[in-house]
Amino acid sequence: MMRASKLAAAALLLSGCAQQPSQAPSATAAAAVEPLDIQRDYHSYANTREFRTEHLLLDLGVDFSRRVLEGTVELRLQRLSATAAELVLDTRDVDIAQVEAAAGQGTWTATTFTLDPRDAILGSALRIAMPPAADRVRIRYATRPEASGLQWVTPEQTAGKKHPFLYTQSQAIHARSWIPSQDTPLVRSTYEARIRTPKQLLAVMSAVNRPEQKRDGDYRIRMPQPVPTYLIALAVGDLKFRPIGKRSGIYAERSVVRGAAYEFEDTEKMIDVGERLMGPYRWSRYDMLVLPPSFPYGGMENPRLTFLTPTSIVGDKSGVALIAHELAHSWSGNLVTNATWRDFWLNEGTTTYLTYRIMDEIYGQARGDMERALGQQQLVEAFAQATHDGDKALAFDQRGRDPDEVFSSTPYQRGHLFMTYLETKFGRARFDAFLRGWFDAHAFQSKTTEDFIAYLEAKLLASDPGLVPRAKIDEWIYASAMPADAVYAQSDAFAKVDAQRAAWLAGTLPTARLKTRQWTSHEWRHFLDNMPAELTAARAAELDRQFKLTQAPNNYIATSWFRVAIRTGHAPALPAIERFLLRVGRMLFLNPIYRELVKTPDGLAFAQRVFAQARPRYHPIGQASVERIIKDAQK
Ligand SMILES: [Zn+2]
Repeated sequence: MMRASKLAAAALLLSGCAQQPSQAPSATAAAAVEPLDIQRDYHSYANTREFRTEHLLLDLGVDFSRRVLEGTVELRLQRLSATAAELVLDTRDVDIAQVEAAAGQGTWTATTFTLDPRDAILGSALRIAMPPAADRVRIRYATRPEASGLQWVTPEQTAGKKHPFLYTQSQAIHARSWIPSQDTPLVRSTYEARIRTPKQLLAVMSAVNRPEQKRDGDYRIRMPQPVPTYLIALAVGDLKFRPIGKRSGIYAERSVVRGAAYEFEDTEKMIDVGERLMGPYRWSRYDMLVLPPSFPYGGMENPRLTFLTPTSIVGDKSGVALIAHELAHSWSGNLVTNATWRDFWLNEGTTTYLTYRIMDEIYGQARGDMERALGQQQLVEAFAQATHDGDKALAFDQRGRDPDEVFSSTPYQRGHLFMTYLETKFGRARFDAFLRGWFDAHAFQSKTTEDFIAYLEAKLLASDPGLVPRAKIDEWIYASAMPADAVYAQSDAFAKVDAQRAAWLAGTLPTARLKTRQWTSHEWRHFLDNMPAELTAARAAELDRQFKLTQAPNNYIATSWFRVAIRTGHAPALPAIERFLLRVGRMLFLNPIYRELVKTPDGLAFAQRVFAQARPRYHPIGQASVERIIKDAQK
């Protein structure tokens, strides 16, 4: 169990403001005129009350030289309205050549379509005329090189340097940039695909992959479990496969696969823990694909095939909470899915809570508590960076905003703290049974925040009336300020680090006497992330001389150190920072470094120069994120 102590710093920073909770979900949007419809996905144009995709068939050629996917998508639809004469789909930056429609097994006939003007966030609605009884459409289309959901990686940017690499990132609303579709988590469908690639390369998807199949550049892949479009994923590269357990394995380039197999060898144990906590693993296999370093996220929970950054392979398993996290999504997110992006916390908060529970089971409570404490620090930073006060709540109105721009640690960490609060109140046994019941009762469904609240009231709150009032639940979910009785983790290991840092800062502990030999990367991060603002360049240089931090091979430690180096003006670190920013595309590392850089005119100039060079190597989502940081600094 986690101790119920109030971690002074986090509690003060997070609940110190006197914000009044805005309890009604409809009162959150200042700009929006209409009352919020919580059942509606405002990030999709799809008319899901008239048609719903049940099965999706892709037939695509992968053209690396033109950076284009070209072919067809067929949607098999459930017709919910007998009279509906128009099907509206989501697209962004795709060229539509032809659309055909059919009824049942009937023949295809060409039908008319229009593409609405492009909205900067949502893209262009594709409006297809549906003949009476039509319940299938087939669209011939091509993507554009700038498609936001695709990254075309040059051979030089891969580990092998010989072959190009392509991967998709569909969450949140990028599937529409490579598949005209009902791009909303409200709709789930099974899918199948025929993917044509250069002969030497292998195509894999978030589906049933067959590593033993012959490499002939013509791959047929099928996904038997229904998933929303944001979980449809494709990667094409010079991939090898290596099993690591009876239902898990690694896909990666040849030179990467071995290190990854060692780093992630505990995956099978994690699946077992996941099943004990949350019920059967319903996706048959859990494989992982290691991507080139430009991947903007740590991981993406694509079902059956998690996509991973190579930056988490550091040789000491210090980054494996990432695997626990992506695996936990097999229940929270992939099995029971947020209905709209307003409900994103349901995916991420529950997953973050489960991540730490898995880490406790496999690596011990001390490790779990360090992960929790680092997470709390991320929440403090997310609150400090929030541009809209409402973004500090769990569920909030996101109309008119890009989910990528809204993205922060808040739904992860505040969501985790909400789950921890409930666990503390009701006891672990009852809370575990409640969560498992939630997954079992809603498997393969999409749920809103309010569905969760209703289930919580019926299954947990009602079992002990008065223990947690409904108003407390509303405060957790809809209010900006953190509830004052949140339960924060306390890490004993970090307390020892704090004591050493304090003595070193006071000058009573010389640099050479800092006891860091046993530190994990977590302790290093905690040590560096909590250095005071007034630390001088001379003192930073002392640390660098002693511990060679500028050369730190661990990306997590390097990021924390680079922030200290930038803040203190420790110039010898700058060339290493530049190399790092040119090599790595993971936003968890890029964003804090760029944010630190842009605080001074010299730093901003450095950031602009490096970004101009690094930009083509970053994923479109990473590019947009750094662009926002630089633009905000210029205001
Ligand atoms: Zn996640």
